[in-house]
Amino acid sequence: MSTQTHAFQAEVAQLLHLVTHSLYSNPEIFLRELISNASDACDKLRFEALANPALLEDQPNLEVRIAFDKAAKTLTVTDTGIGMNEAEAILHLGTIAKSGTKDFFAQLSGDQKADAQLIGQFGVGFYSGFIVADRITVESRRAGVPASEGVRWVSRGAGEFEVEPITRPERGTSVILHLRDDALDFADAWKLKELIGKYSDHIALPIKMEGEKWEEGKEEGQPGQMVKTGEWETVNQATALWTRPRKDVTDEQYVGFYEQLAHDWQPPLAWSHNRVEGSTEYTQLLYIPGHAPLDLWDRDRKAGIKLYVRRVFIMDDAEQLLPRYLRFVKGVVDSADLPLNVSRELLQESRDVRAIREGNTRRVLGMLEDLVKAEPAAAPPSGAADGVTDVQDKNDAPTGADKYALFWREFGAVLKEGLGEDHANRDRIAQLLRYASTTSDGVTVSLTDYKARMKDGQKAIYYITADTLAAAKNSPQLEVFKKKGIEVLLMTDRVDEWALSYLRDFDGTPLQSVAKGAVDLGDLQDEAEKKAAEQAAENVKPLLDKLKHVLKDQVEDVRVTARLVDSPACLVVQDAGMSMQLARMLKQAGQPVPDTKPVLEINAEHPLVKKLEGSDHFDDLAHILFDQAVLAEGGLPDDPAAYVRRVNTLLA
Ligand code: ADP
Repeated sequence: MSTQTHAFQAEVAQLLHLVTHSLYSNPEIFLRELISNASDACDKLRFEALANPALLEDQPNLEVRIAFDKAAKTLTVTDTGIGMNEAEAILHLGTIAKSGTKDFFAQLSGDQKADAQLIGQFGVGFYSGFIVADRITVESRRAGVPASEGVRWVSRGAGEFEVEPITRPERGTSVILHLRDDALDFADAWKLKELIGKYSDHIALPIKMEGEKWEEGKEEGQPGQMVKTGEWETVNQATALWTRPRKDVTDEQYVGFYEQLAHDWQPPLAWSHNRVEGSTEYTQLLYIPGHAPLDLWDRDRKAGIKLYVRRVFIMDDAEQLLPRYLRFVKGVVDSADLPLNVSRELLQESRDVRAIREGNTRRVLGMLEDLVKAEPAAAPPSGAADGVTDVQDKNDAPTGADKYALFWREFGAVLKEGLGEDHANRDRIAQLLRYASTTSDGVTVSLTDYKARMKDGQKAIYYITADTLAAAKNSPQLEVFKKKGIEVLLMTDRVDEWALSYLRDFDGTPLQSVAKGAVDLGDLQDEAEKKAAEQAAENVKPLLDKLKHVLKDQVEDVRVTARLVDSPACLVVQDAGMSMQLARMLKQAGQPVPDTKPVLEINAEHPLVKKLEGSDHFDDLAHILFDQAVLAEGGLPDDPAAYVRRVNTLLA
């Protein structure tokens, strides 16, 4: 009578369809997801009970119980955690409230294999139960409310679910899976224990199963059978993984812990587990994931560090524990010094937190440096100076160098933000940068490599920023560098120009944009070339004045350049100016852009420029020259129709 039917939020219905159609290949993960939710529910209760001990009622034990009934074809995961009331069950089990949801659905392709991979990254949580169940019943009661305020939630995983009030004396939640016929092998003690060992051994709570014993048949000829003993035994280690000495933790366990912490099914690239002693005492277990999450660029993206204080869970997403530019790192910090009632506000001001944040930052940079070295094991422990007593950094295949390339592809653009954000570690971050370059086909180069290859007489590290690699590679500004065989770094990330404004030099060598300021090749030009350039500049002086006059609304200046070989003209910005590419990007994003004009540089040797002198169509040619320079560097003429008209006039 009091049963209400609700429709799932559209995204949930879509996700459920995917879960039941794409995840057959790895059905067992459902158990990890449900145990993880049960464990989170207990953590939440433990935390709320710090302020309100009455919530623990007469059942202070926080635990997870796994039960099955072969005959009834059910598997039940019960926890004594925080529980849900009716409104919470409707909200939490009927909608998805996760950042990155929109991106996730936008990226789905319909290809089952690719989509299964994506779902793995997104994390299906509770809904993974429908991989093995054709119906799920959830019974729950929130801690601290009367037994009569329990709720039952039932769904077949299609478009809708039902809820009704129930009486439930026990606090917490039971998730009852009505197993499909093809999933009945999960109703088996051995199988379940194996899976718990594989995925959930490190969960800090006891996971219990009812004991079984063999009972002979009662009469002659009747087969014996396994019967339940009524005694519940703990089947996992039930100590928080990070509190164990590292020698007692296997690689599989570290990876298993990561998978449930990050809701990521792919193994991490590296991890680092340390107990830090000194002015502040804490344990850190930090992981570098193997791939970028869908919401890496989401402004509201949650940070990846869970904070515990003396093993009590305090909060997810403790953003104070790592700088923004390391937001891809996942892990746990367990502090011995912070108060249990620490709030987000308090975290911002805490000196201990600042020390932990700095320690974590150094540790992550150290892990990345270790990945760079081909033999990570041979590296000296990078944290020795900050009171780290117990160091273990683990990496599995592929080799360090390959892994760093993988890391860079996934997270390089985020790490670059550190140049602007983390002054103290700028030099270490600069060592970790990688860029495409004009001379290194396909592979990225470090600034150290670049410096080692610099030509005699070369005084700067040259780079260019553009929207795409092709645009960068073919930019006219590169012509003289190509001719002289000088390497130029090609930068195509949106963040590059902003980030580089914080990195004026690397190891004493200035970084110089080839599209900014006058080109000064210095000692890279020989005397004859310098003379010729001066002569050319002298000769075209009247032409420059004429161009300046015609293009006075568009350009700041017109000058002769040594940077061009094949092109007649190009645009550059003043030394301290914003590149045209960045200005364009900001304009598109609706941001204010300083109103500065570029400099038109011309190639005095080019036949077109030579022809310009005595032409009857001087004005048209001048405008075409300018508009083409805009086009060549990836922009659009202000008045495309006028450009077309002028070109056509000349063609005709
Ligand atoms: P996630 O765990 O990533 O938030 P889920 O789909 O697994 O996503 O769960 C959705 C929400 O349902 C959880 O955030 C939690 O609020 C609630 N929930 C799930 N399982 C339980 C449980 N055993 N006890 C209490 N709340 C739960």
